[in-house]
Amino acid sequence: MHRRILAPGVPAAAALLLAIPASAASWSPGAPGIGDPYYPYYGNGGYDVSHYDLRLKYQPRTDELQGTATVLARTTQDLSRFDLDFLLDVSEVRVNGAEASFTASGQHELVVTPKTPLAKGAPMTVVVRYSGVPSTKSAYGFTTWHRTPDGAVAADEPESAWWWFPSNDHPSDKATFDVSVAVPDGTQAISNGTLQSASSKLGWTRYTWRQDKPQATYLTTLALGRFDITTGTSEGGVPVVNAYSRDLGANDGAARASVERTGELVDWLTGYFGPYPFGSAGGYVPNTTTGYALETQTRVYYSPKQFAGGSNTSVVVHELAHQWYGDDVSLKGWKDIWINEGFARYAQWLWSEHEGEGTAQELAGYVYASHPADDAFWTVAPGDPGPDDQFDVAVYDRGALAVQALRNEIGDDAFFAVLKGWPKEHAYGNASVADFRRYAEQVSGKPLAALFDTWLFQPSKPAAPAARSLVRTGAAVARPDSWREIEATNDVHGR
Ligand SMILES: [Zn+2]
Repeated sequence: MHRRILAPGVPAAAALLLAIPASAASWSPGAPGIGDPYYPYYGNGGYDVSHYDLRLKYQPRTDELQGTATVLARTTQDLSRFDLDFLLDVSEVRVNGAEASFTASGQHELVVTPKTPLAKGAPMTVVVRYSGVPSTKSAYGFTTWHRTPDGAVAADEPESAWWWFPSNDHPSDKATFDVSVAVPDGTQAISNGTLQSASSKLGWTRYTWRQDKPQATYLTTLALGRFDITTGTSEGGVPVVNAYSRDLGANDGAARASVERTGELVDWLTGYFGPYPFGSAGGYVPNTTTGYALETQTRVYYSPKQFAGGSNTSVVVHELAHQWYGDDVSLKGWKDIWINEGFARYAQWLWSEHEGEGTAQELAGYVYASHPADDAFWTVAPGDPGPDDQFDVAVYDRGALAVQALRNEIGDDAFFAVLKGWPKEHAYGNASVADFRRYAEQVSGKPLAALFDTWLFQPSKPAAPAARSLVRTGAAVARPDSWREIEATNDVHGR
């Protein structure tokens, strides 16, 4: 019990005069973290966000960002105060129109105390005015705001929002977004969803983007710089918007030869995963020095280095597969990363099979044979890898191996029904590895606890009997032709 309003000894008559509702006795602060054991301070407790409206202005020359965020939420407890995750300098916070007090706390907490406490289940509108130079801010000693010669990019996992908008920064609280950014004429602002408008006034162009389907904060991206934008529609009817930095140098051709195939690859993936879940698709390649790609919703982030070895459709397939496995159906907690990466990697194997460069079965056999039993690879449990190994290569390769083991156990008919049914089962929501096992059991009619334990949770190489179907006994395991392209996507999430 929290009794924050009435101190002991207050005369009964005075208490009555205050006329506070009976629930007042239970008002308490929202937790500084949403309850993810991997990242105890990520996200916050006490409320659930439904929409972010961000109105920003950015100067590429100085990296100065100013903005107003309007956050629509609903309280989930009787709330005396709450946190947002944010690093920039805040000048004003209003809650339901009234000025609120606020203070920075911890590594990335903005603690907001509304003038009057909020009852559980009540709608809450939070307005935050802010400014700052994102590249000067860090938390836990790092920054994920990537400066470029002509601007900056916000795209990282699991954290990128703190540098540009205040949020409940955890994938379990998804929301819709309107992102409107003014930049000097000649600079473009790219974000998720569809471009609603772009208009110039007094030397500044304002770009307004809309994501009308729920989106996790880490999948919300912003790119500011000089881009060449291409638009089109896939044969299946999905609008495509891609963008390329005008400064990609030798990687320009390979980047376009890969990312321009987005529409074709979205359509191809619908054959396995069902209808594309969003109103637009695409990707962008800024002139960053990073090495990874990220499945930012509807507008995938690709580092130029992904194309340094030539075109790579495999990485495009990986990030587009995430639009179903990761973005449409998001993980419940970061321990559930396998339902993102195991399946995005497996989609690369299916693409390899389609291209005649090695079947999924051959790729699984190759992964199994490439790592001897004493290889540290097998100590990583993709089903719950721990925060330090969350993006270890084993989460991808052993993760996809587990998907192939599932396919061999339940057969192609049930397996492809699971693959296509899952995004529909949890559309625009969140789910865990345990939810996936239950769903696969339901569709296949087979108990799968032992299989999941062996392939996803045991810190050791599965024994030969369980793996027999993965390796043709006696045959040499050749390196499939697609391996080079698949391997080139391995630093997809390195910081
Ligand atoms: Zn991935």
